[in-house]
Amino acid sequence: MKPVTINRLVIPRLIISILSGLFLLGSGNTTVYVTNSGSKYHREDCTSLSRSKIAVSLEDALKSGYEACAVCKPPIAAQAGPSTMPQKALYRLNKTALTRSSPGDTSKMVPADVVGHVDGDTLRVRIPNPPPELKTVETIRMLGVDTPETVHPHKPVERFGQEASDFTKARLLGTQVYLAFDWELRDRYGRLLAYIYTPEGRCFNAALIQEGYGYAYVSYTFHFIEEFKDLEQAARNGKRGLWGP
Ligand SMILES: [Zn+2]
Repeated sequence: MKPVTINRLVIPRLIISILSGLFLLGSGNTTVYVTNSGSKYHREDCTSLSRSKIAVSLEDALKSGYEACAVCKPPIAAQAGPSTMPQKALYRLNKTALTRSSPGDTSKMVPADVVGHVDGDTLRVRIPNPPPELKTVETIRMLGVDTPETVHPHKPVERFGQEASDFTKARLLGTQVYLAFDWELRDRYGRLLAYIYTPEGRCFNAALIQEGYGYAYVSYTFHFIEEFKDLEQAARNGKRGLWGP
């Protein structure tokens, strides 16, 4: 008979998962609120929410490391069942043989809701059940594309910056998108570097360049750099968007 051996790590792990399961049990239906930049979560009427207010489930807030606000004292555990949204692993396109960014296989990507808009190439998203590398609320800098500046504190709005910003807002704000990644997960500001896909499997980063709302951003390499350079050249040739008269 084979002797039964139990890895010494199994029991502590089991205890941790039971405890965290109990703690999180039932927090899926309670809504709390977080801000763009804070580390606390709040009740809906908290004064800390004056500048930004993003609804998340309590479960997601706890899982993402947000702590309860000491002022409004939001719930720390709740009564409903846990979230049923399946957790997706990060899908890194640089590990695929794809040479074109579209169409993308959204079934492999992390779904996210676009809850805020910064400018043409930067968004705020809420990720319902994030994999361990991601938080529930993230700022995304779209990979491989640079749109003209609109929000820099010390620079004037660049030509076509407002149009690019409006285009992204009109197309994406309030929609569900899918996230895919490349070599680097974050930039030096901690923003998530991602490809944004629409539910139809179209790469929005590429669309921005194709429609003349942004440049191929080639200072750092990325998987679709050749395609994005070609898209920019085609937009220039077609005098689209910022390449127009
Ligand atoms: Zn609060």
